[in-house]
Amino acid sequence: SGPVTSPADIRSRIPDVEIPDVSFAEFILGRCDEFKDNIAVSDYLTGRKYTYQQIKDFARRVASALHKRGYKKGDVITTSTLNLPEFPILVLAAASLGVIVSPANHMYTAAELSRMLEHNGACAIFTIPQLLPLVKEAISDPNVSGRIKETFTFGHEEEGALFFHTLMEDDGKSFPENVDIDPKKDVLLMPYSSGTTGLPKGVMLSHHNIVANIMQLRDLLRVSPDEKTIALLPFFHIYGLTAVQFGSLYNGAQLVTIPRFEPEMFLKAMHEEKITILHAVPPIVLFLAKHPMVANFDLSNVSYMVSGAAPLSESLTMECQNRLGFPIFQGYGLTETSPVINIDCHPGYPGTIGLLVPNTKAKLVDVDTGEPVKVGELGEYCMDGPQKMLGYLNNQQATDEMIDKDGWLHTGDLGYMREDGMVVIEDRLKELIKYKGYQVPPAELEGLLLTHPAVSDASVIGIPEEGVGELPRAYVVLKPDVTVTPEEISKFVEERVTPSKRLRGGVEFLAEIPKTPSGKILRRVLKAKALQAS
Ligand code: ATP
Ligand code: MG
Repeated sequence: SGPVTSPADIRSRIPDVEIPDVSFAEFILGRCDEFKDNIAVSDYLTGRKYTYQQIKDFARRVASALHKRGYKKGDVITTSTLNLPEFPILVLAAASLGVIVSPANHMYTAAELSRMLEHNGACAIFTIPQLLPLVKEAISDPNVSGRIKETFTFGHEEEGALFFHTLMEDDGKSFPENVDIDPKKDVLLMPYSSGTTGLPKGVMLSHHNIVANIMQLRDLLRVSPDEKTIALLPFFHIYGLTAVQFGSLYNGAQLVTIPRFEPEMFLKAMHEEKITILHAVPPIVLFLAKHPMVANFDLSNVSYMVSGAAPLSESLTMECQNRLGFPIFQGYGLTETSPVINIDCHPGYPGTIGLLVPNTKAKLVDVDTGEPVKVGELGEYCMDGPQKMLGYLNNQQATDEMIDKDGWLHTGDLGYMREDGMVVIEDRLKELIKYKGYQVPPAELEGLLLTHPAVSDASVIGIPEEGVGELPRAYVVLKPDVTVTPEEISKFVEERVTPSKRLRGGVEFLAEIPKTPSGKILRRVLKAKALQAS
């Protein structure tokens, strides 16, 4: 129902929503007054928790303290930490001052962190005691050292750093009431893309971008105040940072932080905390679908799970749903789109990216001609909407390559529209395997390999081959105690795909598939390995 969509003109099936023209701090702190004494965030391991009123109060105290220390609108701060319940307090304090938060991947090496700090121009860094030595090393880099004025630690006091809790103890009297923020122009967050296809890029997201995406999701995900959301995905990546963390806090739910994904701790937290909303990524869906340990825990309070950040096949969706009994909805988006563009909701169309969020338009275009494709044909997914980034930091060229002169953001992802109007994202344009002029999407073969009873994980890449382009090669992780040969795996695939998609580049067994902490298969790492070996 709703407006008819075609690949040339994809519209949301749900009506547009009103997006308030407010700064992010106003947007969230206003809700804190409504939800008052409800728990806003709690930490599973330590039991530390804050009510909505406390979140607001501490955000104002921290803002006051930072203001006194000279932090002002336009300054950039970086975080390098595991998930903890003070994180939203820091983001809201910074947002109140117009200070930009640029969170770093806590798994970066010192050199990677230095490069990010050099690039984002941060003047302070907020970390945890166990990461302090690495942070110190990163900021001793001559290109960075002069600029980082202060280092803070969460958790406990540590020599060589200021203690975040002293900011929370400020009297709050210097909270600046009238920082002039233009929600559409001023940057709120500057996360970095995952670096799946190359170096991570700094993405400038405005207050309006983030407010918009939370409003766009509100009626689709219907998070209510009696809900409990697990903050399992890292806060440094856009999905955990905004959709999970602030999607929960805006709607009055309780966010339960766990520092990072560790299988048993995660399952215990789900069980003991009676979590109702689970946001995850495909590797976690895979774990939930296949691991024997999962059967020892009660996940019956979960009303739904959302999986985003990488393609989730229909078969894996069904396998996991059937095992656990709650629906899995696929979300699709990019750091550059704050992040959500599409989300599958009730009743659910497994394997597709479901509904376009409201206030957004999309189309599928031929990569060479830019003309819209037909139903069933593969094209690049393009979007425009209020969640579209302002641009990449210090990289106008990359910005212009992604957002065309008519304002369309080209996602770099290939997909097609089904007869029922639902869109399936097949793979990234950059990672499509080209065999004799045929296009082979690795994600499709990976999904198929996961249906083999002996396979616990898989990845597919193209191996360059004179004259034909590339040959699809599979890297496969086997379940413990199974015996199967590479030939048997090849044959399994051969019986189920068109000839161009056969695994002519071979099948190799591996102990583990390399992935980013945001849940994406690092095919470029496998490619480099393959090229080195040849
Ligand atoms: P980089 O741009 O640095 O190479 P990245 O694109 O992986 O890294 P993110 O912004 O975290 O960084 O990820 C966005 C990408 O993730 C999308 O362009 C798409 O390829 C993929 N993605 C996200 N959700 C889905 C989904 N549901 N199905 C398929 N792909 C998805
Ligand atoms: Mg990208």
